[in-house]
Amino acid sequence: MATKRLAVLTSGGDAPGMNAAVRSVVRTALDRGVTVYAIYEGYQGMVEGGDRIREMNWDSVGGILGLGGTIIGTARSDDFRTHDGRRTAAKNLIDREIDSLVIIGGDGSLTGANLFRQEWPSLLSELVESGAITQATADSHGNLAIVGLVGSIDNDMYGTNMTIGADTALHRITEAIDAIASTAASHQRAFVVKVMGRNCGYLALMAALATGAEWVLIPENPPPWDNWEDKMVADLQRGRAAGRRDSIVVMAEGARDKHGNPIGSSYVQKFLEEKLGEEVRTTVLGHVQRGGAPSAFDRNLGTMMGYQAVETVLAARPADEPQMIAIRGNRITTVPLMACVEQTRAIAKAIDEHEYDRAMELRGSSFTETYRTLRTLLRSLPHPAAPGQKPLRLAVMNCGAPAPGMNTAVRAAVRIGLDRGHVMLGIANGFKGFIEGEVHEMNWMSVSGWASKGGSGLGTSREIPSGRDFYAIARTIEKHDIHGILLIGGFSGYQGAHHLFIERENYPAFNIPIICLPASINNNLPGSDLSIGADTALNTIVEAVDKVKQAAVAQRRCYVVEVMGRRCGYLALMAGLATGAERVYLHEEGVRLHELVTDVEQLRLGFEHGKRLGLMIRNEDAHPVYSTNVLCAIFEAESNGLFEVRQTILGHVQQGGDPSPFDRIQATRFAARCVDFLIEQAQSPEPQGAFIGLEAGGIVMHSLDEIPKMVDRDNQRPKVQWWMDVRGIAKLMSQPMPGGSMTSEK
Ligand code: ADP
Repeated sequence: MATKRLAVLTSGGDAPGMNAAVRSVVRTALDRGVTVYAIYEGYQGMVEGGDRIREMNWDSVGGILGLGGTIIGTARSDDFRTHDGRRTAAKNLIDREIDSLVIIGGDGSLTGANLFRQEWPSLLSELVESGAITQATADSHGNLAIVGLVGSIDNDMYGTNMTIGADTALHRITEAIDAIASTAASHQRAFVVKVMGRNCGYLALMAALATGAEWVLIPENPPPWDNWEDKMVADLQRGRAAGRRDSIVVMAEGARDKHGNPIGSSYVQKFLEEKLGEEVRTTVLGHVQRGGAPSAFDRNLGTMMGYQAVETVLAARPADEPQMIAIRGNRITTVPLMACVEQTRAIAKAIDEHEYDRAMELRGSSFTETYRTLRTLLRSLPHPAAPGQKPLRLAVMNCGAPAPGMNTAVRAAVRIGLDRGHVMLGIANGFKGFIEGEVHEMNWMSVSGWASKGGSGLGTSREIPSGRDFYAIARTIEKHDIHGILLIGGFSGYQGAHHLFIERENYPAFNIPIICLPASINNNLPGSDLSIGADTALNTIVEAVDKVKQAAVAQRRCYVVEVMGRRCGYLALMAGLATGAERVYLHEEGVRLHELVTDVEQLRLGFEHGKRLGLMIRNEDAHPVYSTNVLCAIFEAESNGLFEVRQTILGHVQQGGDPSPFDRIQATRFAARCVDFLIEQAQSPEPQGAFIGLEAGGIVMHSLDEIPKMVDRDNQRPKVQWWMDVRGIAKLMSQPMPGGSMTSEK
């Protein structure tokens, strides 16, 4: 049987992360022995043929992971919308014996692909009739297999939690709004910020949540009042009166009122200027949202989806429904393509017909839940407590090393708790402060500005209570009449919470609900695929490695980059995947001398064949003897003068920095659920202890007594780590020389 031939194209609006997907499709196909083509300039290139359709090799997609946009170009094609155009496109594919397609684009591009697939047999018949191809050729390519990847910064596709590019766009938007917030606060000024999203409010909603903006306008859920403008002004004024110095309104392009009339940013600006009696500035973010280097998440999403796309398209049988690659709760999966496109269209239709409840319902429960949480957080003051309600006294604390996003979680918890009519207490400096009784009451404004701040405003420590500490903690609980504890932190915090839980028999004061929220850059906590802070740290590492790689251009150099993680290799592996490192050293796998010999040989071979840069990423605890220093010394000694070796130890920058949009959003979502849990459990005679997390199916909670069976205590990490499965993809992408060619850049 002839080898399979597959083509990949990017179509519609460009999105950061498309390059990672193209690279991944090309390399996975080559690894599977499939001939692979790239179709340049989207469907237009398919219609034009010629050198718009080019065979790719391993090197053709080298060095593109960190580039924004799409190197194979994208276009909108009117020709492809016509039957004649599609027949010409079919001829161009058949001439090259291509009958499998991976399309990376939005719902328009995927609809076009589906139509093309449906028409394929009749297009071939027409080509046979006109004598352009033979019947035998038509027979041997009777079906077109397609698979779709969604590249769209708007995150507007039904059926997937994220589209390729949306996370990067959110990075651009939050950076911009954080910057605007600081100037707005300096001048006590109001700003209107317009972000992309004609039919989808995802970017506006999440940006408002991530930055602590005060008002948000999204297409799916217009303000329900006729005089929404007055409501908005009143809210901003209340915020100022409560002590806020900045007022920011975030609006999606497709913002409208409840009658469907579009709301323009200049209208909002003018209205605010009149009513607030001050200057109001508008920033329309425009195309910067599309541009720039893709975030770590988008690179890895593109890579993992591209891999899955090739697996899926090669396995497709003629009768199978075409699939789209999706991510659900952090796991890559496949979903029926046209059903997702139709539901996406249904949302747009619901918005057009002013059926906003339906539009929100179709967006899914997590979107709706986030919207509700946002409405609480944006308030300038909490709702007054219900008459006769006995307020609970709920305490919040941070534990372990600081993780970006801790403050975001504290802010959300404090505000949501206050809004439900409860008293919120902050415990300073983790268990150390708990033992010493450092507890203070928090109010609405004490967490103002915390959504976007790195570090730990409450203070944190690694202390784990033992012995007489329990007595002191029980005293603190009684003295401050604490009815529930939210612990936001890392491994030591989880251990401390577990201790309190099992000491309940000895200390009745501990018979209150306790919940842990995972916050650690190491991502080494049980019951959650991701902990808060890990995404920020990963982006910090990826940005640093990008710079290191740039600095090395035109020299033959190998870098060994050491990253944090303690004995958990998550950061090392995911940073390796996002930067195209050829080797990743993990504690989970250990380091063996014979493997180092192979690594050195590969390096030498690579540099002999023109490689300019080598990149190895080593987890800080990968091996006690083969330290970063020792690895560098071995590589250098064995380099035969072919290349130099340098080490880069990234250190504590990885724990710092303002939280990434994902960490802010996830911190807020977790915190909202945790407060609900504490309130519910505080009423129970046997309150539970739990830890929250994100798993394949979404947000989950486990009981604290599951900790011992879920963690590997000696190595301080979960016994089962989902990301270990990703190692295969990382190895595939960076393997040396498949197809006989030598990689000079990753
Ligand atoms: P997106 O994929 O980002 O939604 P568009 O809707 O502009 O972007 O679609 C990109 C291209 O896909 C179009 O220019 C056209 O070539 C093709 N396309 C879109 N819809 C169809 C369709 N119904 N039939 C055929 N081709 C289509």
